[in-house]
Amino acid sequence: MYISERLANVNESATLAMSQKSRELQAKGHDVINLSIGQPDFNTPDHIKEAAKKAIDENFSKYTPVPGLPVLREAICTKFKRDNQLDFNPSQIVVSNGAKQSIANIILSLVGPGDEVIIPAPYWVSYIEIVNLAQAGNVVVEAGIDQDFKITPEQLEAAITPKTKVFLFSSPSNPTGSLYTRDELRALADVFVKNPHVVIVSDEIYELITFDGKHESIAQFEELRDRVVIVNGVSKGYAMTGWRIGYIAAPQWIADACNKLQGQYTSGACSISQMASAEALTGTQEPSEMMKETFLRRRDLVVKMAREIEGMKVNVPQGAFYLFPEVDSYFGKSFDGYDIKDANDLAMYLLETAFVATVSGEAFGSPKCLRFSYATSDEQLVEALKRIKTALDKLK
Ligand code: PMP
Ligand code: GLU
Repeated sequence: MYISERLANVNESATLAMSQKSRELQAKGHDVINLSIGQPDFNTPDHIKEAAKKAIDENFSKYTPVPGLPVLREAICTKFKRDNQLDFNPSQIVVSNGAKQSIANIILSLVGPGDEVIIPAPYWVSYIEIVNLAQAGNVVVEAGIDQDFKITPEQLEAAITPKTKVFLFSSPSNPTGSLYTRDELRALADVFVKNPHVVIVSDEIYELITFDGKHESIAQFEELRDRVVIVNGVSKGYAMTGWRIGYIAAPQWIADACNKLQGQYTSGACSISQMASAEALTGTQEPSEMMKETFLRRRDLVVKMAREIEGMKVNVPQGAFYLFPEVDSYFGKSFDGYDIKDANDLAMYLLETAFVATVSGEAFGSPKCLRFSYATSDEQLVEALKRIKTALDKLK
């Protein structure tokens, strides 16, 4: 008995695996600081919880339409108009069980064996594995810390082939926090104008957590409007990771394809979560603003502390809640039986000796780096960075 070849080619999610390891150490009584999984540490705002309670009392307990309740799809259109000055018809919106499912829907709908998906590295772990699940080819375009982890139009142009079907990226980015400016997106858009066979998937899940500059969507360029799919959701901006609501705004034929796939796979997302999400998108945005301010303060704190650690190269993330320092200066060093050959060894060394959980950059396509999520309290961050510094200073 054995699993399918399709699944055998998919790796386990490194973010979820590291988080599980840290829970296991915690269960054994260790005081672990978990900077591995990326999720806001805030509770869902009260007005959103109230909307969910009301939905339960009003018996929103039946199957919803596969692509989502009309009230939510309209709320999503209102959000796109208000925040992004983009017009969508509710029929172009598909609501799913988290943005992760939205991305899986798009990729499984659009690509298969023989097709190529271009993914800039560093990338979010699941992009590559979802493409593997679709049995298509990943074409990775690398952008290091010296280019603020953003690819250039020349790199993009060189990666496109007749087999390219999709370009998949996030801005603000997980794992780097880098944000493409309007001009940078314009330059990438010019390359896509010359390559009309490529669909652009723009993952904007961290839109509300943008500190410096303004979040811009590549969908704003009129020439690309008929082939950009925006992915977004309520997980990060509204502290609703467990409610599992993500959505896309897509050209009609892609929305229809995702709808068909989802109809055979999971049906519509949870009815109560959908009503809560409609409130999140149309109700007061103040709690999200406050969370953003807190993330900004923590960003400044972790950047300052990380820069005091000799051997770490740190950029300043402009959004999301991750720090992605380059740590290869520690490779080849040792302490107490730990030989650090790569970022995987370093993440394990920090977990087992300093009890701080991070994620190796390898899973994000950047083996010289480590990812820290700073979505936790200031006290925990100060303590974690202290422990990391002490552990790294011991490596000789
Ligand atoms: N895209 C990116 C870049 C993410 O970091 C995440 C967070 N896991 C997702 C998509 C998926 O989010 P969701 O919780 O809505 O599935
Ligand atoms: N996006 C989060 C992260 O990168 C959640 C974990 C996951 O879904 O992989 O840590």
